[in-house]
Amino acid sequence: MATDKPVREIRINPITPSESVLVASERSLRPQKEEERVPHDDREHVDSCPFCKGNEDKTPPTITALPDEKNWEIRIVQNLFPVLGTESDQGNISFGLQQVMDGYGHHEVIIDHHRHGIEVHEMSEQHLAMLLGLYRQRMEELFTSDERIRYVLVFKNFGPAAGASIKHTHSQLIAMPIIPENVYNEVEHSRNYYRKYHQCIFCSLIDEALTFEATIYNRESGEVRHKVDVGQYVIERSERFIAIKPFASRYEWEVHILPTQHQSNFMKVTEEDLADFAKLLKRTMQRLDKVLSGAQYNYYFHTVPRCDEFKDCDASYHWHMEICPRTTIPSGFELGSGLFISTISPEDAAEKLRNAIPLVDNDQVD
Ligand SMILES: [Zn+2]
Ligand SMILES: [Zn+2]
Ligand SMILES: [Zn+2]
Repeated sequence: MATDKPVREIRINPITPSESVLVASERSLRPQKEEERVPHDDREHVDSCPFCKGNEDKTPPTITALPDEKNWEIRIVQNLFPVLGTESDQGNISFGLQQVMDGYGHHEVIIDHHRHGIEVHEMSEQHLAMLLGLYRQRMEELFTSDERIRYVLVFKNFGPAAGASIKHTHSQLIAMPIIPENVYNEVEHSRNYYRKYHQCIFCSLIDEALTFEATIYNRESGEVRHKVDVGQYVIERSERFIAIKPFASRYEWEVHILPTQHQSNFMKVTEEDLADFAKLLKRTMQRLDKVLSGAQYNYYFHTVPRCDEFKDCDASYHWHMEICPRTTIPSGFELGSGLFISTISPEDAAEKLRNAIPLVDNDQVD
């Protein structure tokens, strides 16, 4: 149940407290600039597009293609302008406070679909399962073939507001010799939680979302201070996955998808998992598209990194996908304080997303 009362509170992200959010729902009433919508491009093929079929010579050579190179539906190529590369091996340099690490790594582009204008929520479940399977496969190949790699970040930018420079739907993969700060913090914090409570914090969050309801009373007067209905953060469930609108997240429409059974490593997912994941992803993206009238977003995967320091994190870390729709541009307050402002309460956002399209099975979300 969403509240009509304006919310003004700082919410602490339970997994990474440094990523907390200021929810100030009254701010949504202040005058706003007309949002720039990007019209849906449903063209099948564009002659000048380097990612369209028939233009393969406009990209670096194919690394992998599915189902095969000639009839490809998904294709992976080297990024033409890689942010990390394998050619300049200068080593690491330290001078006083200046520390430089070699920009070693791999940067690849995954052309998600052979059709130019198709968006994720329009792709078939089979296609999405194939795409997710290819993410897994390529991650695995890079880990196996290059022992310097500590993390493979798979992500997608969709729409100019999310930093996509080419319209044709694509994802990217950056394999790097370091663990990104966000992942490091999550793995570290969840391990601390595990040491204290002997339970994975992500599993605890899922358990709470599925079962927990409480009323907090004022001890002296007996008045109701706060009603907690954690189940309201569940957007959708499938057999093996759950989509949650986090109670404290930086982006207003942010949604996380997690396997309901504990699993630390995305590379361990099975074909059955992928088929079910694809179903949930498609429906979650349909919801975002409907509510935002065309979503511009980033999504990325967080999975347990490869390094000695985190060898013992299989029980404490839980892989997931974070989807961050980009509806506002961070302001000086946000950059200066690190505290992001959300002008819609996460409860209202969750309710809107839940109501956007009918549930497949009404028993799935109570
Ligand atoms: Zn294209
Ligand atoms: Zn877990
Ligand atoms: Zn994460």
